[in-house]
Amino acid sequence: LDLERIGVHESVGNVFPPAELESYLSDLPATVETVDDDGARDCDAVVTFAYREAFLDCDWIHSIQAGVDRFPFDDLEAEDVVLTNSTGIHDRTVGETVAGYLLAFSRRLHAHVAAQKEGEWEKPAWDEAFTLPGKTACILGTGTLGSGVADVVGSLGVRTVGVRRSADPVPGFDEIYATDDLLEAVADADFVIVTLPLTDETHQLVDSEVFETMREDAYFVNVGRGPIVDEHALIDALESGAIEGAALDVFEEEPLPEESPLWEMDEVIVTPHCAAFTRDYFRDVGDLVEENVGRLEDEEEFYNRVV
Ligand code: NAD
Repeated sequence: LDLERIGVHESVGNVFPPAELESYLSDLPATVETVDDDGARDCDAVVTFAYREAFLDCDWIHSIQAGVDRFPFDDLEAEDVVLTNSTGIHDRTVGETVAGYLLAFSRRLHAHVAAQKEGEWEKPAWDEAFTLPGKTACILGTGTLGSGVADVVGSLGVRTVGVRRSADPVPGFDEIYATDDLLEAVADADFVIVTLPLTDETHQLVDSEVFETMREDAYFVNVGRGPIVDEHALIDALESGAIEGAALDVFEEEPLPEESPLWEMDEVIVTPHCAAFTRDYFRDVGDLVEENVGRLEDEEEFYNRVV
């Protein structure tokens, strides 16, 4: 693979200005420039948020997201295009966002912000607010996101239970369950937190049975991908009181449609797929690209290679 021209696809603008990454990578031994769909065709490699068919003309695509469920793996393989992703950089950002959700629910901050918007001085009921130490978070997925969440909420005194394919222990988690025992794992949790990638296996993994098994005072959090959860079952569970509330960064359809009942629910926090946002995002992505350019020069295997 001869790397002369690296395109920064304009779609990275969803997360940071393309020019920031362009200048961060200006020391690379290749031309780096911001490109649109057409411009991408002339590149050896492209760094991108979105997927475009034009990228099949490149040799290497780097996704600035960890999730790569939008990429057509079969087409990439057929055209001999390498795909790498940005797994490994979102531990602290997403961990802090999830800790923020938990603190909002326990300290009622979302309710106060809502009341302030209405100009209302409204104290919570005596038994609404609580503290986190001793509470249990069941975290589905023990990779970068899962470990980052366990680290940050663990430091707030929350007991962390991880769910992964095998029940082997993972550093940073107090207890581990295998995915086969998912219902057992969520049954006693105060918070159930999805940090999984979207795959054939995880599609709709969280269904009505999971919500029925959860405690009625438990909160559900999804920072993985929307389709891992049966959103209708989630809405039913929230409406019927089968669970207390939810914090959601990802949805079956994004942007979340205007008519979704989730917008209006008091105990639901909606964030627009930005749990991993940070002003340093372009640097974290740039370091991954640089690492792989170095590996290419040394004829080593790609880091974070998916296809
Ligand atoms: P990662 O590869 O570090 O971790 C994923 C973990 O999930 C791995 O440990 C893997 O073994 C596990 N896993 C996969 N299938 C499983 C299954 N069926 N049962 C149990 N465990 C399973 O990836 P990551 O960086 O932690 O990201 C995970 C996902 O989170 C991404 O694919 C992406 O969809 C999502 N994500 C969302 C945001 C956001 O802004 N909300 C940011 C980053 C990542």
